[in-house]
Amino acid sequence: MAKDYYEILGVSRNATQEEIKKAYRKLARRYHPDVNKNDPAAESKFKEINEAYECLSDPDKRRQYDMFGTTRGGPAFGGFGDFAGFGTGGGFEETFGDIFDMFFGDWRRPGSSHRSGAQRGSDLSLELTIDFEEAVFGAQKEVEIGRLVSCNVCSGSGLEPGTRPETCPDCRGTGEIRSEQRTVFGTFIRTSTCPRCKGVGKIISNPCRSCNGQGRKPVHEKIKVDIPAGVDNGVTLKLAGKGEAGLRGGAAGDLYVMIHVRPHSVFERQGNDLFCQFPITFPQAALGAEVQVPTLDGIEKIRIPAGTQTGTPFRIRGKGIPSLHSGSRGDIIVQVVIETPRKLTDRQKELLYELAREFGDELPNASSSFFGRIKDAFGSK
Ligand SMILES: [Zn+2]
Ligand SMILES: [Zn+2]
Repeated sequence: MAKDYYEILGVSRNATQEEIKKAYRKLARRYHPDVNKNDPAAESKFKEINEAYECLSDPDKRRQYDMFGTTRGGPAFGGFGDFAGFGTGGGFEETFGDIFDMFFGDWRRPGSSHRSGAQRGSDLSLELTIDFEEAVFGAQKEVEIGRLVSCNVCSGSGLEPGTRPETCPDCRGTGEIRSEQRTVFGTFIRTSTCPRCKGVGKIISNPCRSCNGQGRKPVHEKIKVDIPAGVDNGVTLKLAGKGEAGLRGGAAGDLYVMIHVRPHSVFERQGNDLFCQFPITFPQAALGAEVQVPTLDGIEKIRIPAGTQTGTPFRIRGKGIPSLHSGSRGDIIVQVVIETPRKLTDRQKELLYELAREFGDELPNASSSFFGRIKDAFGSK
């Protein structure tokens, strides 16, 4: 059974072309592969949406689909015969343009044959480096960016205030130029976008002086970026509508901010847990102790039981990184490491020798003066 293209786009059977286009854009933006990286479900949904739009945006294909529940030959762009048969349809140019869009992620190439000429603004992207603590607890940062915004004088129309656009004389307002092409297969009627008005059907003879008729102006702007608590290195935040302004009523693009997190001097992130090593002495490990471990929230006490081995992990619950989704925090894992002292006082050495004797340890190199004293002290003559 053929797919229900109306259902896929979420529009009624008597939806206007404008409604279909609006529904398509909304869905395509949501399921676009650039936004849903490595998500096969979104990718197939995106293809389905494009297929539905391919069909319903073309009046001939839509009529055929309404009558027969399918477009001839399966996929709209399937066969050579498909466009040979329909001289009045979008033609090769448009069909191919939509395939191009589907795979390369440009919503509407400039001058594509949509009558309104509305063009979505470009997406922008930048990178932002933040401190480890800012990533853990969240922060508000400011970035500076150059972008095109809608002209405030003409409200993006490109028209000098008080003037009107004129009908394009080249295409007589249709936005399309038709040409005939004779080939061995017969005569093709080819429809292409009017180069003069870029498919809009109207031209501006009195361009807005503030933006030179572009409808947009470049600005340097400071934009606030809310860093959510728990953000990880390499996460990309999307600021909807903070890309470049659209043209002729098109939606604004989005701004993508890729986050880099500076490493912490003590903690290493492992998912939502924080990992660190903490040095303890041999007596602390052997006899047991209570040690004070610094965390991102202040000092935490850990009880080291007697007989703790080096490398033993201790968990401090709920002091790790908050989950981006639930907000509940991970743990801190403190791995204790028994540190061998590098410098010893004579007294410490004496005690260690005494301990070694008690353990029955073999100690090489025992020729130093204090070793003699130890020997004397313990009476081995
Ligand atoms: Zn303007
Ligand atoms: Zn024109």
